[in-house]
Amino acid sequence: LYEDHGVLRCRRLLVFVNPHGGVGKGEKIFEKVVEPVLLAAGCDLTVVRTTHHGHAFDYVKDLELDKVDAIATVSGDGLIHEVLNGLAQHADPMSALRIPVAPIPAGSGNGLALNLIGIKHGFDSASAALNIVKGRPMKTDLFSITQGGKRSFSFMSQSLGLMADLDLDTEHLRWMGDTRFIYGMLRGIVTFNPAPIQLSIKVTEDNKDVMAETLFTRVQEKLSSGKEAAEESSVRESGALPTLKYLPDDNEDWTVIEDPILFVYAGQGPYVGRDYMAFPVSLPDDGMIDIAVMPLTSRGEIVSAISGAETGENFWFPKLQYYKAQAYRVKPLSTKGNLSIDGERFPFEEFQVEVHPRLGTFLSC
Ligand code: ADP
Ligand code: MG
Repeated sequence: LYEDHGVLRCRRLLVFVNPHGGVGKGEKIFEKVVEPVLLAAGCDLTVVRTTHHGHAFDYVKDLELDKVDAIATVSGDGLIHEVLNGLAQHADPMSALRIPVAPIPAGSGNGLALNLIGIKHGFDSASAALNIVKGRPMKTDLFSITQGGKRSFSFMSQSLGLMADLDLDTEHLRWMGDTRFIYGMLRGIVTFNPAPIQLSIKVTEDNKDVMAETLFTRVQEKLSSGKEAAEESSVRESGALPTLKYLPDDNEDWTVIEDPILFVYAGQGPYVGRDYMAFPVSLPDDGMIDIAVMPLTSRGEIVSAISGAETGENFWFPKLQYYKAQAYRVKPLSTKGNLSIDGERFPFEEFQVEVHPRLGTFLSC
């Protein structure tokens, strides 16, 4: 890190380029747009072309932490997920997770880039490269997923039911870019299958008006304390990952959702994709996870609710249940189903999620 007019900037960058991300343009985007911007800004680049799934994970797990100021990924949300999990597996995980991560959007799902750079320029690689040069470390909540005794971390979303099917069952249509998600959505509305799960939530807030009000107040507060991000980046402390608060057999004050469910989307955002603002009242560091639960109503109602998804208006669809929570738990009621975490396929098996406030770090302008 070096200081430029009182602002901390990153100089030594580790860049992962996934040549197969999205429609396979990662390499070209990096060479034509991103690399020139980063070099012009005086950055030192270590470029790693990923050759397989898990490559970036293994690389950052053993990273020499004091040699890298930030990590960039040229791919989609999946590679970000992998990098964060690699950092969490580092021998010094808390220091590792303080290294800021920043996306160059070149995958089919680029939710993080949309949230950091904005809906207008979120898919623009030059804007994303500038974010790496000019962005400051920003803390974000991470969610730990405990499944079969294994713990992993999610930075954006977990989905089940229709929303997971539309992503995971359309992998063969990668050539479509993110249009495959629209195709998947239409297909899901036609088949209209309930998600075969039991969902329990440790609810903090379930009143949408209160959530919208709180969001407004928090944004006002943030705007009046703009210096925060740069200051906290200089604090470095080692230690173990935060321990889990909620045991799998703790059932006190957990709300069990009884109605049949079309989909569950949990996480933070607000965006999970270009045309889907899944979490319009989320903040990256409010210490809570947002959970949207769409009951299996009628196709007509779902179509009208979904048509407001781009702007977040579907939040107000009366039948959409929306919670702010500390934790939640899913038990499959069938062996067949999809679980997508940050756009990656996970086993359709019982899991529990819990929030860790401000555990991760991204770059944001
Ligand atoms: P997309 O949005 O196109 O799926 P992501 O970044 O979300 O892009 O996902 C990329 C996935 O591909 C990750 O799971 C990552 O581990 C994996 N991956 C990275 N490099 C390669 C490679 N060379 N070949 C195959 N898979 C790879
Ligand atoms: Mg993906």
